[in-house]
Amino acid sequence: MRILLTNDDGIFAPGLTALEAIARQFSDDIWICAPAEEQSGAGHSLTLSRPVRLRRHDERRFSVSGTPTDAVMMALRKVMPAPPDLILSGVNRGANLGDDVTYSGTVSAAIEGALAGIRSIALSQVYASEGMGDAVPFGAAEAWGAKVLAPLLDAPFAPRTLVNVNFPALPAEEVQGIRVVRQGFHDYSRGTIVEGTDPRGYRYFWFGLDGIEHTPGHATDLEAIQDGFVSVTPLQLDLTHEASLAELAGRFG
Ligand code: MN
Repeated sequence: MRILLTNDDGIFAPGLTALEAIARQFSDDIWICAPAEEQSGAGHSLTLSRPVRLRRHDERRFSVSGTPTDAVMMALRKVMPAPPDLILSGVNRGANLGDDVTYSGTVSAAIEGALAGIRSIALSQVYASEGMGDAVPFGAAEAWGAKVLAPLLDAPFAPRTLVNVNFPALPAEEVQGIRVVRQGFHDYSRGTIVEGTDPRGYRYFWFGLDGIEHTPGHATDLEAIQDGFVSVTPLQLDLTHEASLAELAGRFG
């Protein structure tokens, strides 16, 4: 089984090292192509306005001066001699739950894989406290990664679907199990915007993620994580709201 790994926190992200250890439990045919720099929050963006550079770190390890989507596209079209059987994106430093999946570079890399018709799974490690810097513990992901992946490797994936996995912010031995759940919803409060003045006297704004609140709906990813479970959520790329089709069509005669 040929596996492509990527990670929106960049080619040197600790979560990518954690993911490689998980993937090597299934295969030695591992390829890595990830953004050169952190791209958290890049969503499904594609670099169009400037060239993208490809750097080879070793035989099967590459970085791209672009987004997670760029990295997957480059891997599939320029780097790998044959398509992978599986794309794993992560393990992200931080949650990708509820509405956050559309901001997520981690999920979007898996979306790009799903669009290419390849089995794709996004993995994220929730962590409890802010200000931990690089010291995010990936223990839950490392201990539970293979357990959650194994049943997914031969599960049927419908076209244009992917799976989003989140590991709770707990030591591995305190994780309660695995739940297959719906995507939840945040209350709309997109965190803080910190305002300041740069060294040259210009005003700047910086988005933060604190202050996002939610009341987890039952059987959602948010609830599973709150309850100490690994969440497994199948996602679809067809965003059409079926129930509105007939109503809107009626308004246009
Ligand atoms: Mn990230």
